[in-house]
Amino acid sequence: EISPRLFENSPALWLAGFPWRPAEAHKYQAGHALISGGTEMTGAAQLASRAALRIGAGLVSLACSPASLPIYALANPSVITLAVGAAADFVAALADPRRNAVLVGPGNGVGADTRERAIAALEAGRSLVLDADALTVFEGRTEELFKLTAASAGETVLTPHDGEFRRLFPGIAGDPLERARVAAAQSGAIVVLKGPDTVVAAPDRRASINGSAPPWLATAGTGDVLSGMIVGLLAQGMPAFLAAGAAVWIHAQAAFAFGPGMISEDLPDALPKVLARLS
Ligand code: AMP
Ligand code: MG
Repeated sequence: EISPRLFENSPALWLAGFPWRPAEAHKYQAGHALISGGTEMTGAAQLASRAALRIGAGLVSLACSPASLPIYALANPSVITLAVGAAADFVAALADPRRNAVLVGPGNGVGADTRERAIAALEAGRSLVLDADALTVFEGRTEELFKLTAASAGETVLTPHDGEFRRLFPGIAGDPLERARVAAAQSGAIVVLKGPDTVVAAPDRRASINGSAPPWLATAGTGDVLSGMIVGLLAQGMPAFLAAGAAVWIHAQAAFAFGPGMISEDLPDALPKVLARLS
């Protein structure tokens, strides 16, 4: 604790809340993440899905267009692929109460269908991560987003990098800590402002700063891995402020485990090594 409600992100902050598997565990008790996939950028949701499983989610369903389903299904044997042609099909996928945490955004495209999926997940009251394109599609429509966030029964996590943050919250100035806190208060969501020193802020002003992440994380797809880790922890019931902090810290440690030359698909497979050191 640096000052009341401001923490250095370290395991001391969240390890007691980490959802280790109990000895008698069944996969259906370890959560079921629903991840929205896109049609053109198909790598992003695959990275997120693998990360969600590696961080311990019992099951992952990946919702994608019928045309792109073979791409997802062939490459991801442990992921359940769902053909979702219309908005109503995504609502139907959400109707299964076992799908308790949702991720929308990575590689999803900036069309109306991405916004519709995010709105459907909010209306279904799920724990939710909005990343990437699912942030961009609310540019200029934040009042609508914040109303839905406030009304949702689940916790919402927004994971913008600096550019996404500026588009979504154009009026907020200050250093990253202050900007993330103001955005969290305005949105009612946990805000993960990503960068070299990632800030996680809650609406009640609790915040953590992750002071140690390597610069080789600045490569394509690492943000998609992070949002997959967060939804995987939410699916396991971890409170959102702690889940986001844990994911940010573990993500950086997985990157250190690889070193320079790391690419985003290395990260999910480095998670067991980091988790073993924590357990
Ligand atoms: P995205 O921009 O969505 O792909 O996310 C990039 C990820 O890499 C985030 O987790 C950032 O915090 C992290 N990242 C980006 N640049 C750096 C950097 N220079 N040092 C450490 N981490 C970084
Ligand atoms: Mg990103």
